[in-house]
Amino acid sequence: MKITNIYTQPLKAPLKKPFITSLRRVDTLEDLVVIIECDDGSVGYGEGAPTPQITGETMGSMVAAIAFIKPHILGRDIEDFDAILKLIHSLLVKNTTAKSALEIALYDLKAKSEKLPLFRMLGGTQTKFSTDITISMGEIDKMIADCHSAVALGYDTLKVKIGDNPRKDVERVIAIDAALDSDIKLRLDANQGWTAVQSVELLHALEKQDIIAEFIEQPVAADDIEGLKYIKERVQTPLLADESIFSLKDAKKLLELQAIDYVNIKLAKTAGISQALELADLSKNFGVKCMIGCMLEGPISVAAGVHVASAKADIITMLDLDAVSLLASHPVKTSIEFNESEIVLSEDMGLGVSLGEISNL
Ligand SMILES: [Mg+2]
Repeated sequence: MKITNIYTQPLKAPLKKPFITSLRRVDTLEDLVVIIECDDGSVGYGEGAPTPQITGETMGSMVAAIAFIKPHILGRDIEDFDAILKLIHSLLVKNTTAKSALEIALYDLKAKSEKLPLFRMLGGTQTKFSTDITISMGEIDKMIADCHSAVALGYDTLKVKIGDNPRKDVERVIAIDAALDSDIKLRLDANQGWTAVQSVELLHALEKQDIIAEFIEQPVAADDIEGLKYIKERVQTPLLADESIFSLKDAKKLLELQAIDYVNIKLAKTAGISQALELADLSKNFGVKCMIGCMLEGPISVAAGVHVASAKADIITMLDLDAVSLLASHPVKTSIEFNESEIVLSEDMGLGVSLGEISNL
């Protein structure tokens, strides 16, 4: 099963409503599909969406990174799977989303070559999952209305985006908490919007009102490791690291410092599936549970995240894989059920995805 061609296809997909965080606003998803063809007719699909504010990649840089790697893996046999992955990571540093898209397509092919769904190839058995949904940052009334809509759709866990205005952030969370039934769980994501001192003050203000979210995600700048530790030592609300952890090295440092309670694994940060699996194992060694998250991205890469969640279900206990439900439409077809908060893996070989007719280029 030799690789005969690799090509990329940029896609656009409209969102149901704008996606707004303290770092960015997105109205239309732009992502890149990677297609790898083999000499026996097998096709593997990968995908990634450039998120310049987080990974430093653009659509152009992703296309260029994949074109750079392409000649080195053309003609290679999928049987040399581990060597091909190693090669990809040794040829180019960073470019994590581009390498993730390539890896996802290779894992799709590898699982197809073994005639297994990817999660089974990775040793997973769990097929049903529940995800949260993101509530975009905005005015309080709009955020409460969005929370009510999400609950009406069946979500019992909401990930609330805050971080642009510390005082308003506390007002937002108090108002949202008061507007929702007590069985609805809140996750808070400040996307690096606060300082460490502000974080402690704001979380204490919430804790005083008996509001302890499931976690506060990335309150401070990605490189503010000391800040994370400072916060963790002073608040009751569990602390989850997102932008601070791309590599295993990043995670090891934070875990050794006992600076966080949870790790957010995203394939676009770990440069694909192989290091996401290793990151889950590393976290497990430290007794730290993980969430698997996604960028605002398409169904192929989100599907890959679900397979990883199944493979490491003992340590990945939380899912933030709502991107497919945020899209109004997308040309990728998938046999995985993305039914709002419920996600169900299928027994189709590989990722369980295919490319429908592409009409919206
Ligand atoms: Mg985040």
